[in-house]
Amino acid sequence: SPSLVFLVGARASGKTTVGRVLARRLGLPFVDTDAAVAASTGKTVAEIVAAEGWPGFRRRESAALRAAAAAHPGGVVVATGGGMVLAAENRAYMRAQGVVLYLEAPAALLAARLACDPQAAQRPSLTGLDAAQEAARVLAERAPLYAAAAHHRLDAALPPEQICAAVADLIALAAE
Ligand code: ADP
Ligand code: MG
Repeated sequence: SPSLVFLVGARASGKTTVGRVLARRLGLPFVDTDAAVAASTGKTVAEIVAAEGWPGFRRRESAALRAAAAAHPGGVVVATGGGMVLAAENRAYMRAQGVVLYLEAPAALLAARLACDPQAAQRPSLTGLDAAQEAARVLAERAPLYAAAAHHRLDAALPPEQICAAVADLIALAAE
C-alpha cells in the first residue's frame, strides 16, 4: 500500500529528517525505529549495545519495525535504522508490506554530515575506524542490501523538500 512507506539508507543519509517532512506532506504519522527502541527501553543505542550486544539491538529494531506498521493500519512513514536491512526478513517484510525508499548518498556526504552532527558522537562505532573510513566501509557492505530492499532510489544530497516532491511523484505514478 502506498500509505506504508519505509525509508532505508546509511547512517546520516537523512531517513529521520526526510521521513518527518514526508509524513507531514503525505498526512501520515511518523515513526522512527531508533527512537521507538529508545522509548521502549529507556536506553540509548550505545547503552543497549553495551548491555546486549548488536544482536540485542537488532532484535529490538526488528520488533519496532513490525510494531510501527501494526500500530498504524491507516498508514505510516517509518524511518529505519541504518542496519535494518541486514536481516533478510526485514528486507522481505518491508518490500512486501509497503513502499521502500532508499536514500542514496556517497560515503563522503555521509561522513561530512556525521562530522557536524553532535548526535553522531553518541552512536557507537561499528568498525573502530575514523568516521570517513567507517562510512565508506559500512556503505560498501550495505549498499547492495539497501538497493535490494528498495522499490525506489532517491538522491539523498537534495534538500528534503525536493526529495519529498520526488516521492510524491512516484506515489502518484504508482496510483495511476
Ligand atoms: P539518519 O536518520 O538517516 O541517520 P538524519 O535525518 O538524522 O539521518 O540526518 C543526519 C544529519 O544530516 C542531520 O544533521 C540532518 O540535519 C542532516 N540532513 C539530513 N537530510 C539532509 C538533507 N536532505 N540535506 C541536508 N542535510 C540533511
Ligand atoms: Mg535516523
